[in-house]
Amino acid sequence: MVDQKTGVLGLIGYPLEHSLSPRLHNQAIVELGLNFVYLSFPLKPEQLEDGIRAIRALGLRGVNVTIPYKERVLPYLDQLDPLAAKLGAVNTIVNNHGLLTGYNTDINGFCRMLEEDGGFRIRGKRALLLGAGGAARAVAFALCQQGIAALTIINRTADKARHLQKTLHGYYPGVRLATAKLSRPELTAWSDPLDLIVDTTPIGMAPQLEVEPVIPLEVIRQAHLVVDLVYNPPETSLLRAAAQVGVQGLNGMGMLLYQGIEAFKLWTGQEPELNSWRELVKSV
Ligand code: NAP
Repeated sequence: MVDQKTGVLGLIGYPLEHSLSPRLHNQAIVELGLNFVYLSFPLKPEQLEDGIRAIRALGLRGVNVTIPYKERVLPYLDQLDPLAAKLGAVNTIVNNHGLLTGYNTDINGFCRMLEEDGGFRIRGKRALLLGAGGAARAVAFALCQQGIAALTIINRTADKARHLQKTLHGYYPGVRLATAKLSRPELTAWSDPLDLIVDTTPIGMAPQLEVEPVIPLEVIRQAHLVVDLVYNPPETSLLRAAAQVGVQGLNGMGMLLYQGIEAFKLWTGQEPELNSWRELVKSV
């Protein structure tokens, strides 16, 4: 029951109709018997600054931040967790008596998915990363932070891949970094040893179910694990191709759930039940 002491959590972004976060967090609140409520706050770009001020003024405990504001909220916060500061993107804000701290739980969410769902240890491995947008940045920082040995970033817009490479090199000079333009001939000629492929592009996301994966089967075959950050549909054309050549595949659902678990813990100190969230997602 909502009363004077109910803590308010929420999600800011625009648009928000398709987000699963309100359902996931409210289910965890009920299951853990906590006095919180999680609401959706769609904010237009011109409302963003007022929206962040309202977190303080109205005493919200915290919010998740999603597209298109993960970078744009930074100037309005009081402090940043060191990893969020490196990445330059925030997906969780915690309000401690008016002091707003920005975190990025996508980074640990991705690592936890690889380790717990994929049984994959990042340290010393070699990875191919497709894309250089917001999700790719979080994945690249996660991999470098955990000691990946070599990372090649392949993107449709080659400049963006090079820019990400430069940023990463400044923080992680020990990682062997390379970039390439996304093209099938370039990928077909790939011959370097490879442990992990992560696709952070929206290719294969519903309703585009039948698109051909951009990574040729000969390259997929070399990896131990293929991750597609898309989770709708659960099995994308890339993951079908991986299964076809006997390579383990993971969709992005684990990352979504683990980043949410970490955010929830930052606000409430308690951990949602992972399997209960998995059941909820299956039923949607
Ligand atoms: P973004 O910042 O817009 O970046 C999109 C990336 O995909 C860019 O590198 C873009 O290349 C590339 N791309 C887009 N369309 C392409 C196409 N037709 N062919 C080749 N490359 C293409 O988006 P984002 O926030 O990174 O999100 C990307 C995907 O990750 C989305 O599907 C999103 O749902 C998913 N995601 C999942 C999670 C999770 O928790 N599982 C979290 C975040 C995001 P250019 O640079 O050339 O434009």
